Amino acid sequence: MLIILLGPPGAGKGTQAERIVQEHQLAYVSTGDILRNAVKEQTNLGRKAKQYMDQGQLVPDELVVEIVKDRLTDPDCAEGALLDGFPRTVTQADFLEQALPGIGINIDRVVSIEVKEEELIERLTGRRVCSECGASFHLKFKPPKVRNVCDVCGGDLYQRDDDTFETVKERLEVYKKQTEPLIAYYEKKGILSPVDGNQDIDAVFNQINKILEKI
Ligand code: ADP
Ligand code: ADP
Ligand code: ZN
Repeated sequence: MLIILLGPPGAGKGTQAERIVQEHQLAYVSTGDILRNAVKEQTNLGRKAKQYMDQGQLVPDELVVEIVKDRLTDPDCAEGALLDGFPRTVTQADFLEQALPGIGINIDRVVSIEVKEEELIERLTGRRVCSECGASFHLKFKPPKVRNVCDVCGGDLYQRDDDTFETVKERLEVYKKQTEPLIAYYEKKGILSPVDGNQDIDAVFNQINKILEKI
């Protein structure tokens, strides 16, 4: 089983992914997390990716496609995977379509989380992320039980460099130009399921679950 989570930055993809992978026993594949780790570890990939990420731009397709190709052939993906943050361009989507038959999986559903822009800005600028496990929190909408401490693993929370107002604006523009066309792309293939992401976290999760139960 392969599920894709599509949606603008701040839509709640990571938040929902954490619950979906538990409920449906799927491997979690987040290109954002993989890239942030590479930056932290100062690998070759990390050094190349950092300049784009800091500016709110997409990392070039060639680099990201390699990451996903490697990750999807890991043993834990054989039973099924949840893709968060990939594909983000039509080129990446075309690559996935060509690569999947070789790996022996196909896309079951593309869940598109829709949230209005003012809400996205508030979610992103108030977001705090765990430096250990990547879990997302929010100062107002999902505060951790203990200030600056992750509920899941006890790690320290931090604000991502790209969650400042200026970079958030840029990322939303990039999303509109480069990623939003994927909604029509997957709609045409008949595998798109839109979800109203303006609701609270539990309500969004319930809606996603209803979609996944039908697969
Ligand atoms: P994405 O992975 O799509 O960029 P996240 O899951 O990191 O988004 O969520 C962005 C921010 O919004 C986080 O601070 C998160 O706690 C918060 N958030 C996620 N879903 C909701 C929701 N339904 N209502 C309010 N805040 C939310
Ligand atoms: P969000 O869900 O908040 O937009 P992500 O954690 O998914 O953030 O991505 C953070 C950054 O990592 C992006 O702004 C981009 O620079 C890079 N990135 C992540 N996934 C991709 C991808 N599929 N293609 C290109 N760049 C990516
Ligand atoms: Zn954590």
